[in-house]
Amino acid sequence: MLSKTHLYFNTHLGQQKPQTIAGQNAYCPFCDRDALVDIIEESGPILWLKNKYPVLADTFQTVLIETDICNSDLSIYPREHLHKVIRFGVEKWLEMESSGQYSSVIFFKNHGPYSGGTILHPHMQIVGLKNIDYRENIQAADFQGVAIHQSNHVDFNISVKPRVGFFEFNIVLHNLSKLDQMADFIQIAVHYVLHHFMKFCQSYNLFFYKLPHGIAAKIIPRFITSPLFIGYTIPQVSDKTNEIAQDVSRRYFSHS
Ligand SMILES: [Zn+2]
Repeated sequence: MLSKTHLYFNTHLGQQKPQTIAGQNAYCPFCDRDALVDIIEESGPILWLKNKYPVLADTFQTVLIETDICNSDLSIYPREHLHKVIRFGVEKWLEMESSGQYSSVIFFKNHGPYSGGTILHPHMQIVGLKNIDYRENIQAADFQGVAIHQSNHVDFNISVKPRVGFFEFNIVLHNLSKLDQMADFIQIAVHYVLHHFMKFCQSYNLFFYKLPHGIAAKIIPRFITSPLFIGYTIPQVSDKTNEIAQDVSRRYFSHS
């Protein structure tokens, strides 16, 4: 029997996966569009397909290719494309959620060497979990923090109780019709992490969560994970949280 706390990883399939992050000139499977199979849906340069290497047991793993520009990133997408990608992804994620086929559905993005990602080409993943409900592992406090921007529909903050540690940017959306605003804040967080946050931060994760009343996104800059978290599950919170929140609002919101 499979437990409901752990996902089982297929080592054999994992070994077949191309490791394109290692070399700049390595072959990119997401640029070779004619060779891609199992496409579920397409919208201009955005492509949604089944994962070619479904390494996780009892899941339905899909990949959302965000653009046909290999070296682009969410932090620099033109606004219209940004909105299109987030709308497309959230729509497919929530469709899978409401299909009733999964305990829960996770929607996330890895970017950079410390993120856990293996392919550079901008993409996200939507994965249906048959036996695990990730919502049992999250709580309201995960998304509360020092405000960067607040409105009736969207909260943008930095965690005061981060899940893993240090800085976690949260965007909580109470009204799905304001999804474009959430997309703008996701882009701001990602742009800040890659361009202003700490000199050498090249990695981040973006995670989406379904909440009882709305959805949330979390952007986590990634470094080597703290041993206190690995060994003892003790998250650390930075004493610079207020300062970083002020810096983000000064850079991105001061003129509005
Ligand atoms: Zn590519």
